[in-house]
Amino acid sequence: MSRQIAFVFDLNKCIGCQTCSVACKVLWHQEEPGADEQWWCSVNTIPGRGTPRDWEAMGGGYDAQGKVVLGKNPTPEEFGSRSGSAYNWKEVHTSAEHVRFQPVDGEAEWAMNWDEDEGAGEFPNAYFYYMPRICNHCTKPACLEACPTQALYKRDDFGVVLRDEDRCEGNQACARACPYKKIYFNKVREIGQHCIGCFPRMEKNVAPACVRQCPGRAVFVGYRDEENSPVHKLVDQWEVALPHHPEFNTEPNVFYVPPLAPFRVAPDGTIEEGERRIPLDLLETEFGPRVGDAIGTLEKEMARRRNGEPSELMDTLIGYRWEEFLGPFTAEPADIDWRTS
Ligand code: SF4
Ligand code: SF4
Ligand code: SF4
Repeated sequence: MSRQIAFVFDLNKCIGCQTCSVACKVLWHQEEPGADEQWWCSVNTIPGRGTPRDWEAMGGGYDAQGKVVLGKNPTPEEFGSRSGSAYNWKEVHTSAEHVRFQPVDGEAEWAMNWDEDEGAGEFPNAYFYYMPRICNHCTKPACLEACPTQALYKRDDFGVVLRDEDRCEGNQACARACPYKKIYFNKVREIGQHCIGCFPRMEKNVAPACVRQCPGRAVFVGYRDEENSPVHKLVDQWEVALPHHPEFNTEPNVFYVPPLAPFRVAPDGTIEEGERRIPLDLLETEFGPRVGDAIGTLEKEMARRRNGEPSELMDTLIGYRWEEFLGPFTAEPADIDWRTS
């Protein structure tokens, strides 16, 4: 039976700690030559230029006629690489003085998360939120359709988009077609690479590392068609978890509970009830026209809890039952014999 996993990131609980990014990196890249500068899970600050820089304007996905669009292939510099540069690690870690982290051959101009925590707006109404991004394991993966060697495929049991590395000839059409720019070119192995959904863990009922390790309990994983799962309820029942840039038309399977910023503060110091600091038009640009309704539902359910009434939605998002974040993948990683297939 074909099944589709989905992820839900609650942006009201993400604290931008990057644990998910590092969990992924440590698990999949330690012994992989050429993967040093890949970040399959990246957590950017919004508003910001993102990773790779200005990726949202690079194109890809499907046009209105359903034809795959070959957009731009991001350069290593746009991903934040300074190819060939060595950094002053030793000085930073051993000097008695405060030393800034810098390439040894000059000033850095851009790097992964260069604009972290900058945000927008003026005090006291400045705002930002964190945006974790992984491959969306799209239902209509433009990367897969663009690949001329049929190296990419969608696996039936989990719905993850994977790559047969023996078939990949590294022509990077996938990277041009992916509108989320979540494919990285491995210069050593001369193939594209991207988040594999931690399928070897899911095969053993262990949750993906980015979900399992999140200290904010901000990420859910589960089967979209499992009606009792939080993923199904948040996406399909309450409709408070929305896809990122639905207009790219790839039908992503990563969803986001939109951030509820505090209300604005007027010049006289009073709270402007109902006027949130993150502008609604920014959220509509990110998550589409349904975001206002999603925020309305969240506000209504928060009010119910404040009045002492029950709210299944709030209980789910708070995460009293931590196993629910893991969907069916609740096995303890330490109990698994990873040597057997
Ligand atoms: Fe956000 Fe969780 Fe990732 Fe930390 S680990 S950045 S809280 S999603
Ligand atoms: Fe492909 Fe990009 Fe969708 Fe991932 S996010 S499945 S790489 S189109
Ligand atoms: Fe990395 Fe696994 Fe998360 Fe994908 S699902 S970003 S491979 S930790």
